[in-house]
Amino acid sequence: MHEALPLTPSEAFELLLAGNQRFVAGTPEHPNQDAARRAETAPGQRPFAALFGCSDSRLAAEIVFDRGLGDLFVVRTAGHVAGAEVLGSIEYAVSVLDCPLVVVLGHDSCGAVAATRAALTDGLGTTGYVRDVVERVTTSVLAARAAGLTGDDDIIDEHIRHTVDLLLDRSRVLADQVTAGKTAVVGLSYRLADGSARFVTARGLPEEAAAPGTGA
Ligand SMILES: [Zn+2]
Repeated sequence: MHEALPLTPSEAFELLLAGNQRFVAGTPEHPNQDAARRAETAPGQRPFAALFGCSDSRLAAEIVFDRGLGDLFVVRTAGHVAGAEVLGSIEYAVSVLDCPLVVVLGHDSCGAVAATRAALTDGLGTTGYVRDVVERVTTSVLAARAAGLTGDDDIIDEHIRHTVDLLLDRSRVLADQVTAGKTAVVGLSYRLADGSARFVTARGLPEEAAAPGTGA
C-alpha cells in the first residue's frame, strides 16, 4: 500500500482540490503516472477518493484532478444517474477499499440534464435505455422547477444535491460510513470552460474543510 497513513475525509478533499487547482492553472504535475507507480500499486489499491461523475468526455477524472494510478476509484454514468451497479461500486470503494471520500461530479451544459429538460418542456421523446437516464434525472429537474430555479447552473446544482442525497438514502453502508466519520460525500460542479470544480454540497465534512479553496 502506498499511503503511509490513511487520509481523513478532509485531507482527501484537500488533496483532490489541490490537483484541480493545478489543472485549472495549467500547471499539472501528472503524479503517479510512471512505471514505478504502476509497480507499486499492482499488488493492491488504496484510492483516496471514489469519484462518481457524468460520463461526459470532457470530464476525464484523472486529468481534471491531476492524479494518476491508484488514486481515484471512478464510476461514471451519463448524467451521474445511479442504479444498483453504481451503488454497489461505491459501497465497494468505501467498505472494502476504505475510501475516505466520495465525490459526485456534475457539470455545466450537461447533455443528460438538457435532454431531460427538453423532454419535460417540449415533450421530446427518448428511446431505448436513454429513457432510463432521462427518467432518473427527471426528479431533480422537477425539484428545481418547483423551487423556482431556471438557470443552467442552478438546475445542475439541484441535480448534484439530489444525487448526493440519493446515494445516502439508498445505501445504508455509505450512510453508516458517513455517520461514523470514516467517509464524507461531496458534490462538485465542474465548469467546462475553465476546468474548475466548484463546491455544491457535502455530508460528513467539517464546515471549515468545505469552505476554502473551492472556487466560486
Ligand atoms: Zn453530463
